[in-house]
Amino acid sequence: MWLPAARSHMPPAIETEDLSKSYGSTTAVRGLDLSVPRGEVYGFLGPNGAGKTTTIRMLTTLTSPSGGEAYIAGEPVTDRSAVVDELGFLPETPPVYGELTGREQLEYVAGLREFDDWDRIERLLERFDLADDADRRVDTYSKGMKQKLGLVQALLHRPTVVFLDEPTSGLDPRAARTVRDVIAEVAAEDTTVFLSTHILPVVEELADTVGVLYDGRLVAEGSPAELTDGVEAGSTLEDVFLEVTEESPEGGGSPAAIDARSGRGDSGTGPAAMGSGNESTSDDG
Ligand code: ATP
Repeated sequence: MWLPAARSHMPPAIETEDLSKSYGSTTAVRGLDLSVPRGEVYGFLGPNGAGKTTTIRMLTTLTSPSGGEAYIAGEPVTDRSAVVDELGFLPETPPVYGELTGREQLEYVAGLREFDDWDRIERLLERFDLADDADRRVDTYSKGMKQKLGLVQALLHRPTVVFLDEPTSGLDPRAARTVRDVIAEVAAEDTTVFLSTHILPVVEELADTVGVLYDGRLVAEGSPAELTDGVEAGSTLEDVFLEVTEESPEGGGSPAAIDARSGRGDSGTGPAAMGSGNESTSDDG
């Protein structure tokens, strides 16, 4: 792949090496190795409790890793001041203040980030069909309106990486379409989108690369086409998901792993086998 000289020397947007997190005796993330380039949409899948939120919380500096390394745009996540401007985050529940109006909320966040492109705020409000409600208090907003406001504030400062946890949750079909279009647009402008969702068609449509987490380990990684080809002709991402997250009948709990990038599809190797499984514990959970 050809890259402009300046960009080819830039560190990946997200990089982790043997990243792990434990809460007491529960290991939520085990030996995770990720490398996500700039401008890529990375679909992050996994069953409930697989460790997706924990991974995102480590990558957004909200919780500290128990082991391993993680970098955003080449800076360690343990140095919050170095990475905070590179990050945007829409958690499952958008962090908005009910007592502010929508516009005040965005101005507040812009102020925290010393961002003063007011035209961009107005453009994004229009884009998400929030302009007519921007002077109403957020506590009068519907769930979907709060979700859209949360997305605008995550994207406002043109972060290097935006982490989106179920960004289309609660949205009507038109708003969900807008969100999918905006994800594609920001990626085209070189923002990396780390997209965690259970809505597989959204991932199938948007993701350049898909990673599937199961019990804290990456058990499949590749483009949607690489992953579906690795199962059988005509399969969907749902088939891949079901295959790699199915417990073995013997009760061993180890699912089949697919490492599309290395052309392997088997039950003991692949991404799951790449980490060393650092299971140190941390006291912050
Ligand atoms: P979901 O799809 O349901 O949101 P997830 O993949 O985001 O799930 P996590 O929330 O990361 O999963 O949880 C991974 C594991 O870590 C689970 O076993 C969960 O119970 C545990 N866990 C997460 N946060 C904490 C915490 N603060 N204290 C103790 N255990 C935790």
